[in-house]
Amino acid sequence: MTARILVVDDIPANRKVLEAKLTAEYFEVTLAASGQEALAAVEHTAPDLILLDVMMPGISGYDVCARLKADHRFSHIPIVMVTALDSPQDMVRGLESGADDFLTKPLDNLALFARVRNLVRLKRVLDEWRLREGGPLGDIGYEALADESYTDARAFLMSDSGSVRQVIEQASDTLKHEVVHCQPNMPPPGQLLTGSFDMILADVGYQPFDALRLCSQARSCEETRHLPFILIGDRSDSERLYKGLDLGANECLLRPLNPNEVMARLKTQIRRHRLQQRIQQRHQINLNQAVTDALTGLYNRHYMDAHLRRLHARAISEGRALSLIMCDLDRFKAVNDTYGHAIGDAVLRHVANKLSGSVRAPDLVVRQGGEEFVIVLPDTALPEAERVAERLRRTIAESEVALNTEGATLRVTASFGVADLAWDEPSADEALRRADEALYRSKHKGRNCVTLAPPSNIASPTVSATERPTARH
Ligand SMILES: [Mg+2]
Repeated sequence: MTARILVVDDIPANRKVLEAKLTAEYFEVTLAASGQEALAAVEHTAPDLILLDVMMPGISGYDVCARLKADHRFSHIPIVMVTALDSPQDMVRGLESGADDFLTKPLDNLALFARVRNLVRLKRVLDEWRLREGGPLGDIGYEALADESYTDARAFLMSDSGSVRQVIEQASDTLKHEVVHCQPNMPPPGQLLTGSFDMILADVGYQPFDALRLCSQARSCEETRHLPFILIGDRSDSERLYKGLDLGANECLLRPLNPNEVMARLKTQIRRHRLQQRIQQRHQINLNQAVTDALTGLYNRHYMDAHLRRLHARAISEGRALSLIMCDLDRFKAVNDTYGHAIGDAVLRHVANKLSGSVRAPDLVVRQGGEEFVIVLPDTALPEAERVAERLRRTIAESEVALNTEGATLRVTASFGVADLAWDEPSADEALRRADEALYRSKHKGRNCVTLAPPSNIASPTVSATERPTARH
């Protein structure tokens, strides 16, 4: 994983050491010798991560951090504060003031690469979601991370060290987290796969189970793939801890645990995880919006085209039936003109509900546009599709749309055209066109009726209608 990293430190030797370590791991490094230079460099290099010294003459690290986090163009760039080892208040203050993480001097390789990899990975995920959404970056930056709650999480702790348990319990009490301790007779992977935890902490020294195996299992399971996974170990375990980071652990805590540090890190991990979940959920909502019609909640034409392509391919290769019903409300313009668009919208929603409430689960009801709907019926031959259309016609004609709370109602009708897929049509478009023609014949016949499309003039099917698998409606 490569990334552009901006290293900010007023002492040349510190910059050199960091540059050498990061370059050896194939990161691209830019250097800045002051807060002022750092702010200018961010404008030019768009770094993926900033390693920021706290104590600098002129603009301090805290100030640089605060300015960048307040700027919508840059607030999404992760910042790691570099503080002196003997000042736990500094590191906590750094995190509280908006930094994404902190490191203590002298820099330990394990800690450095854990933070860098973890944050670059997170930024990549967020960049990816943002790119897909194609929206402005402003609303998902630091403000959002700081707004995430970090309380009421449920952590799974696998450690038999009394001091580790004590520190984690204490931090969890303050953060209102619940800690579930791993018991030797309880298979942890099975537990974790239930998805009932927000975080996993695993001691590499724990005997009954292997922390690294647990990490790899958690990462390969869909439900726990993005769960914060924190390894705990001694400095002498560094090789295993590195391995764990490669397997996808987010964080390493070194013994003896510092209670302030543990608290700050648990808090940050939970916040990051929740931010990521929120962005993914919003992405899912946007995806749903792209394929659904906002007024009726039905799928839209865009979705139907993709779905029909899949159904068409399956129908052809497996010799399965596929029918389409076109439905168009009768004299809908008059409804809009007489009652206004609000009632017109209510009518469309009413009809959408009636249609989707009267078909089977595999059938797809689509609002094609305006007052026109399409119903896609997999595994359904023409005679069966005709019966479905007739039932839908009756359902709409016999129902009443409420106009107001005083009980005034309106009745509407719809015309229908039905076609089934011909066996050697290259796409379902031809069947759609024939269903549309049949619909217009229904309009000409006086509306509120169902018309079947004549069979396609392309060669007859190799499988007869009676042999095709059909489903009951
Ligand atoms: Mg300094």
